[in-house]
Amino acid sequence: MTSVSSFQGPDVPDVPDVPDVPDVPDVPDVPDVPDVPDVPDVRLRPVMTEPLRVPAGNPGAMTGDGNNTWLIDGREPTLIDAGVGLAAHVEAIARALDGRVLARVLVTHGHADHASGVPALRERWPALEAYKWPTAGETGWRDLADGERLVAGDADLIVLHTPGHAIDHVCFWDPASRALFAGDMVVEGTTVMIPAGKGGSLRDYLASLERLAGLNPRVIYPGHGPVVDRPVDLIREYVAHRQMREAQVLACLRDGISDPDAIVARIYGELSDPIRRAARMTVEAHLEKLRGEGFSPNF
Ligand SMILES: [Zn+2]
Repeated sequence: MTSVSSFQGPDVPDVPDVPDVPDVPDVPDVPDVPDVPDVPDVRLRPVMTEPLRVPAGNPGAMTGDGNNTWLIDGREPTLIDAGVGLAAHVEAIARALDGRVLARVLVTHGHADHASGVPALRERWPALEAYKWPTAGETGWRDLADGERLVAGDADLIVLHTPGHAIDHVCFWDPASRALFAGDMVVEGTTVMIPAGKGGSLRDYLASLERLAGLNPRVIYPGHGPVVDRPVDLIREYVAHRQMREAQVLACLRDGISDPDAIVARIYGELSDPIRRAARMTVEAHLEKLRGEGFSPNF
């Protein structure tokens, strides 16, 4: 018989109490991931639901980073604004369409950075329909009318005549998505030039801004600069800014200062040359508006 002798080893020291596990601290909130900025390479962007920004490739003093053109894809591919006809721009549109045909281009107004690219587009797509608000003496366009509906991609856009920056300026409005293609009505981060005496009218511009605010747009796709995701706030800021300038111009007039250059000097102080010319144009737009409203102390 074997006896199992119990083995007596050395005393096993007491296992020390496991110290309390400290509470796991709360995991800090993960910071919001910032929005991914617009990717200029059109091949990386979806093309079916959102309009596709196709840069016109014409940066400069008057165009900022260059113009935006907007490709609305779908059964009738449509481009908002034509750019200036640079080969790289036409090529980028063709690449996005992947062999399909650009059906039409809708131009927001006749300034060269928005309209002059039509011949280059038509060279690539000979059946292209080009639409614009009619002005005297222009040919080769299909005329737009206020309130007209046009197919763009798979959507219906409504034409809104919005003079002010230019006499022939229109916006295109998609009521279904509350998206507005606004041309040169707004540019985030700056103000819009109102060329007094050259088709610009501050009075018309302010009325056009009010019309756009009344639509309560969700998003604006502008002719320059980033997409505007707070359209009504931006429009309100624009109107307030113009009211502030008007009050300054009126104060000058009441003090007997009516010469545009003298008004510029008083309101803006020292300015470099191109900025002073722009400021003078703005002051002239205000003077023209005030004249139109019957204000006539000394001028
Ligand atoms: Zn313009």
